[in-house]
Amino acid sequence: MLSPAPSWPLDAPSPLWAKLSRERFSTPRLEGEIRADAVVIGGGIAGLATALAFLDRGCSVVLLEAATVGAGASGRANGQVIGTLTRHGPEAIAATLGQPFLDLVAGSADQLFALVARFGIDCDAVRHGWMQPAHSPGRARRAAGLAAQWARAGAPTEALDAAAVTRRIGAPGYFGGWLHRGGGHINPYAFTLGLARGVAAQGAHVFEHSPAGRIRPEADGWCVTTPAGSVRARVLALATGAHSGPLWPQLARSFVPVTSYQAATGPLGPRADRILPGDEAFSDTRQDLRYMRKDREGRIISGAALALQPGAALRLPRLVRQRLALLFPELRDTDMSAFWGGRIAMTVDRLPHLHRAPGMAAWVGCNGRGLALCCAMGGVLADAALGRPEAELALRPTQIQTIPLHAAVRRTARLILPWYRWRDRREI
Ligand SMILES: Cc1cc2nc3c(=O)[nH]c(=O)nc-3n(C[C@H](O)[C@H](O)[C@H](O)COP(=O)(O)OP(=O)(O)OC[C@H]3O[C@@H](n4cnc5c(N)ncnc54)[C@H](O)[C@@H]3O)c2cc1C
Repeated sequence: MLSPAPSWPLDAPSPLWAKLSRERFSTPRLEGEIRADAVVIGGGIAGLATALAFLDRGCSVVLLEAATVGAGASGRANGQVIGTLTRHGPEAIAATLGQPFLDLVAGSADQLFALVARFGIDCDAVRHGWMQPAHSPGRARRAAGLAAQWARAGAPTEALDAAAVTRRIGAPGYFGGWLHRGGGHINPYAFTLGLARGVAAQGAHVFEHSPAGRIRPEADGWCVTTPAGSVRARVLALATGAHSGPLWPQLARSFVPVTSYQAATGPLGPRADRILPGDEAFSDTRQDLRYMRKDREGRIISGAALALQPGAALRLPRLVRQRLALLFPELRDTDMSAFWGGRIAMTVDRLPHLHRAPGMAAWVGCNGRGLALCCAMGGVLADAALGRPEAELALRPTQIQTIPLHAAVRRTARLILPWYRWRDRREI
């Protein structure tokens, strides 16, 4: 049994996912000088998928991770595999970012589960679907429209009426929704470790405890220095997600890192069979999102954000328990057995953005839905760094747009939450 953590360090994965993971991976730090065709910075799913894409294109690869593989958002996520973006439906994605990117998003969950199969990743992968229940009648009508749009984009979807959602969740409270049969859930930390194992077995040199402190362009590529070594490579890919820092300062100012907290019940025994009996994952239509999935031992893992952070370790588990009890009154006295948090990279337009300089590329903007997207973006990031023409990239590179008054926005962004809640309650 895990005891509630009073706080969670930023260089460690979720205590629950680490405890449940049967995958293991660890490597020493980089010492001395090393050369490769490509250097990737960041040992989350985005960096590992990019390293794999470089290998698949015949490049030798070094990957540097500041802490340990999976210590960032990839090892802290709720674990829902979602082949959609946060805000934009298929028509909006095609209109803003183009048909190739829509195709990439539509195939992203397939890519994640293909990696599970390719490397035999032991991450409790369950592919019984991902559901979006609607919290208002208007949202239920929009959900039916989204299901139809995604079906036209080639995704296996269906609209659900209120009775079908009630049956699938095991509780009433929603007005309808839609189901994406290609989605599901994983232990995201185990997936990240398994992906690292696979990438290393293919020949990538992965170094943990090796923060890239400086990147410097040279005549024939890049030099990246870490506390005890350096890498020289022809091309460089930055996959530091919400943890992006001073390496590319404008990149770090182009998104807002938002803290999202997770809390898990203990194993619920036979009660778990009545909750999500089909073992789907779900995230509803609220702006202050409610979501959950089960793990292999019958815990419910859910989460939320907080407008004010002090006391999060006490307040967040209480909030999650209250919300769970609204759906499942029998859980009203259930204690949360694990608690953790992580950082999400939110962009102003809620879309991912790809940027490049000669021999270098980066992307940010998972907006809380990145597990599948990171898998699909690996090839795009590798191709962008290798200089593939813009018209051939599924996501077109853009100039970085920094957010005005970024430091102030970063500090105050979460204060928008009460307004989201107010709007959620009034939506019809
Ligand atoms: C609490 C939470 C719940 C979530 N739930 C879901 C979900 O259910 N479904 C979903 O699809 N998405 C979810 N997400 C989003 C998803 O986890 C992320 O989009 C995804 O994991 C991002 O992966 P990444 O590789 O880009 O970033 P990360 O996993 O954060 O990896 C970036 C890595 O870069 C490293 N790094 C940073 N700077 C340096 C440096 N200078 N040198 C070397 N390394 C460096 C960091 O240590 C880190 O390990 C969630 C996110 C959070 C935080």
